[in-house]
Amino acid sequence: MSDPKISACGFMPPHVLERVAAQGSVRLRRCAQQTLEADHWFRQRGAPAPQRDAARAVVGRPDRRIHSAENEQTLPGRLVRDEGQPTSGDPAVDEAYEWLGATYRFYWEVFERDSIDDKGMPLIGTVHYARDYDNAFWNGSQMVFGDGDGELFRRFTAAPEVIAHELTHGVIERDVGLIYADQAGALNESLADVFGVLVKQYHAGQSPQAADWLIGANLLTDQVQGQALRSMKAPGTAYDDPVLGRDPQPSHMRDFVDTQADNGGVHINSGIPNRAFYLAAVALESPAWEIVGPVWYAAMRDAALSREADFAAFAALTLDHAERLHGPESRERRAVDEAWREVGVVS
Ligand SMILES: [Zn+2]
Repeated sequence: MSDPKISACGFMPPHVLERVAAQGSVRLRRCAQQTLEADHWFRQRGAPAPQRDAARAVVGRPDRRIHSAENEQTLPGRLVRDEGQPTSGDPAVDEAYEWLGATYRFYWEVFERDSIDDKGMPLIGTVHYARDYDNAFWNGSQMVFGDGDGELFRRFTAAPEVIAHELTHGVIERDVGLIYADQAGALNESLADVFGVLVKQYHAGQSPQAADWLIGANLLTDQVQGQALRSMKAPGTAYDDPVLGRDPQPSHMRDFVDTQADNGGVHINSGIPNRAFYLAAVALESPAWEIVGPVWYAAMRDAALSREADFAAFAALTLDHAERLHGPESRERRAVDEAWREVGVVS
């Protein structure tokens, strides 16, 4: 792939959709093929970022607008729930509203970040996009959710970490602009998973020991042999299914996958830094958003992090920030150091 930009990238790893398009039933092949075609169509189109309406501007409060595409492909579609309005009774609408709000609250309450751009950008969502659409994406100005095919994948609003993952790509694009290829791309994917899973844990008030560390846990139907699309705790074990194949993520540098596919394996090798974050978080008793999350956030926003950074460069910055925040001999710094050693990034 020639364009390493992320702005219209969907949540579903291309290797999963390509596998369903090749191995699924006639209907599932059609669903996956249509999703891949719609994704391609979206990548061709840029979208201007919406500006916050001065009349509604309240710092520290989200500005959500949920629309329905009514199974068409026109965006944003019909407005069905505006900020402050009561629940609509349509689960897709209400989940999109709730999880966009949870993501906003996480970034505001933990990092004092006012939306993706830190300038109160409205959070616009469209549900019921197309038919049987097996994806969700942030196109640079809004979130779009499919209903899923119903056989393998459920509606994409069901998983808060999917929404938080996609919005975090917007944050990364603004703060660092990590290129979306090779190790920098896998780091980009990993950061989207890290903050995605933190939104879920923060919302549920979960300790790192109690959390499931799964990405896309509610997306798979019970017909799929698997529990999610990725596991940060045990990369490579999220699913093993006749149609989807087997989770290809490595959990250690010795198993790093050299491939041209998926922009150099960005959704595959992200398993390595994902597991490092998990290990650092469980080594400490505190909630992950209190200690390790802020270390990762500071490293991500450090001006020294280059757009082409590899895992080792990022690991070095997390160690710098753990030291700055907690001291050179602190157990926090030691937990971060041991985590990167355990996945083979630091030797
Ligand atoms: Zn992603």
